[in-house]
Amino acid sequence: MKMIKHQFLYQLSFLPRIFPVNCYFVEEQDSLTLIDCALPYSAKAIMQAAETIGKPIGTIVLTHAHEDHVGSLDALKQALPQVPVYLSARDSRLLEGDLSLDTNEPQTPIRGSVATKLSTRPDVRLQDGDRIGSLLAIAAPGHTPGSMAFLDTRTQALVAGDALQIRGGVAVAGQLAPWFPFPAMATWNAEKALYSARKLAALGPSLLAVGHGSFLTNPGPVMNKAIRKAEIQLAKHHPEGGGNHVT
Ligand SMILES: [Zn+2]
Repeated sequence: MKMIKHQFLYQLSFLPRIFPVNCYFVEEQDSLTLIDCALPYSAKAIMQAAETIGKPIGTIVLTHAHEDHVGSLDALKQALPQVPVYLSARDSRLLEGDLSLDTNEPQTPIRGSVATKLSTRPDVRLQDGDRIGSLLAIAAPGHTPGSMAFLDTRTQALVAGDALQIRGGVAVAGQLAPWFPFPAMATWNAEKALYSARKLAALGPSLLAVGHGSFLTNPGPVMNKAIRKAEIQLAKHHPEGGGNHVT
């Protein structure tokens, strides 16, 4: 495990060379907020990292319900039973094994390894706009229906889960980056993901931190480039949605 710090944000990276998986600590005055919890064996390293920083884990926040983001949740909750767990109301359904879609959602199948075998349930079911310490929860559906991103309101650092990827080239969820295709393969709906990426870029983040790939400072231009690329790809596959369609 490798740990890198930027202002109040610590990136913990597992398997950095093979299949890099990140989780994050956000430093608050007296405690740490853990965003995502990596792989099943990551619990010990996460707890040791908190000891190194010298503050207790006060809150666990999850971006979405895929296994490589919630892997060590049961082990952490067992070690820290008093620590509340936050996940969007929508992705909380996925944890319970309910992969059904609502009638107002695009009817594309939910993809990727959804963590349906955990026994931990969220203590708080997040909605768009909720606050968790310094963090603002922002609904960013697309990779999964209930994906959320978290903006540190002190620094404008954005932790975006798998709404975008950085490893293998910056890409909006659902757009295939040939050198690291896994997030795209695990994405529920590329149109929704594009809409969410536009919303996240419009926040003007100072730093982008995602599930797969290193920190990216001043990410605006690169995010906008990835968004344009996604727009072109989606217009190709769905010309009726791309405007300029003449019958
Ligand atoms: Zn994912």
